[in-house]
Amino acid sequence: MYNPKSLKAEEFISDEEINTTLKYAEENKNNVELIDKILNKAREEKGLDYKEASVLLACDIKEKNDEIFELANKIKNDFYGNRIVLFAPLYLSNYCVNGCLYCPYHYQNKHIPRKKMTQEEIKREVIALQDMGHKRLAIEAGEDPVNNPLEYILDSIKTIYSIQHKNGAIRRVNVNIAATTVENYKKLHEAGIGTYILFQETYHKESYEKLHPTGPKHNYAWHTEAMDRAMEGGIDDVGLGVLFGLERYKYEFTALLMHAQHLEAVHGVGPHTISVPRIKKADDIDPNAFDNSISDEIFYKIIACIRIAVPYTGMIISTRESKEVREKALNLGISQISGGSKTSVGGYDKSISDEEAEESAQFDVSDRRTLDEIIKWLMENNFVPSFCTACYREGRTGDRFMQICKEKQISNCCHPNALITLKEYLEDYAKNDTKEIGHKIIEKELQNIENETVRQKTATYIKEIEKGDRDFRF
Ligand code: SAM
Repeated sequence: MYNPKSLKAEEFISDEEINTTLKYAEENKNNVELIDKILNKAREEKGLDYKEASVLLACDIKEKNDEIFELANKIKNDFYGNRIVLFAPLYLSNYCVNGCLYCPYHYQNKHIPRKKMTQEEIKREVIALQDMGHKRLAIEAGEDPVNNPLEYILDSIKTIYSIQHKNGAIRRVNVNIAATTVENYKKLHEAGIGTYILFQETYHKESYEKLHPTGPKHNYAWHTEAMDRAMEGGIDDVGLGVLFGLERYKYEFTALLMHAQHLEAVHGVGPHTISVPRIKKADDIDPNAFDNSISDEIFYKIIACIRIAVPYTGMIISTRESKEVREKALNLGISQISGGSKTSVGGYDKSISDEEAEESAQFDVSDRRTLDEIIKWLMENNFVPSFCTACYREGRTGDRFMQICKEKQISNCCHPNALITLKEYLEDYAKNDTKEIGHKIIEKELQNIENETVRQKTATYIKEIEKGDRDFRF
């Protein structure tokens, strides 16, 4: 029944195969010989299949778990170096026709204020985001064909790309909206989106149907096969994720990697990113009502095992997580984080009070620091914050990006782009103490660009930015 090349959800995410894998992983969780064999394969840094990775996730031996964490950190550094890409979510509308039990936007919630931004309001939000220093957004919306039809999303993308305020610009718009048709994915592709993100929520069909009792999202196959339609519509970069807490994490982990293997088998390229959201308190949602919540320790292990299994896939952690958790996760494989986020519709606009904005929030944010505080904190922890959006603007999407990553060319491409965009941030938006640390980091990190021509060119671009020019890239 299991067939990674099938286009049918229940064949590429096979419940039977997942259960067989979980049994195998459980039986081998103390099998040192097998775990060592898998770890040795993982050290070649070409990834693992879902079965091997599931054994590592189940592994119960302290020393071996330490090796897993160490290896995840090494793979992270070998492929991504110390750069961390920044983005912010932008909530366009919280109108929704679905009945998702974990999300306060569900249609039966009558006391959450429903809001849909006009293009004028979006403009104000984008200016506020540009003034923070953001260059990359992830737009979010509930599913509502009447209030938020695709045309509204397309108009909003156009508005976002069109706004140039001072030196600001949003150069990459990722999109997190409900599963849709190939035709609509084509339109999103033509609108110049970056990654299409859709969380599976849970891969367990029965739980999925219970958690999504009503609305179009109820259809498991439609949702699970969305990435295939997105790729058929021309979108090369897709972002997977599950909402941890809804189902047993080991089940989700195996299925998530199966999904990644399926995309690779059918489209020749795996997911561009994997997100690891955990369920949070929200308007009428109590996370304790879901009995599969995971501890921080398990959360770290999941991140480390994903990193080892799919070394070429970016990993995202949002402000759902606290500073402490994010700090640890950064060393285990995370390559992108959000910062200064608001999860409410219109939340960035300074003319709206925080209380009013939070009434329409999707979930509580744990990391409430400003973007500048986050940039400073990253640099104090020896990371290079990056506002780079070059790859997709240079056509390096899908397998072309993966190639760069596989050849470990990030140090000659993403690293210089990170320094250039960090320099822009320092010049245009940073507070003085952030600037001071930033200039030292740039000085130091310039020396880590291996290719001499690239290094010199980067240094020249940085000088040009000081003189007022913007938007250089490799
Ligand atoms: N409406 C779109 C859809 O149907 O896929 C996606 C947009 S939704 C704003 C983004 C994601 O937020 C969801 O896919 C879900 O995983 C997550 N989410 C919903 N409720 C949450 C909660 N209470 N805590 C944390 N994350 C939540």
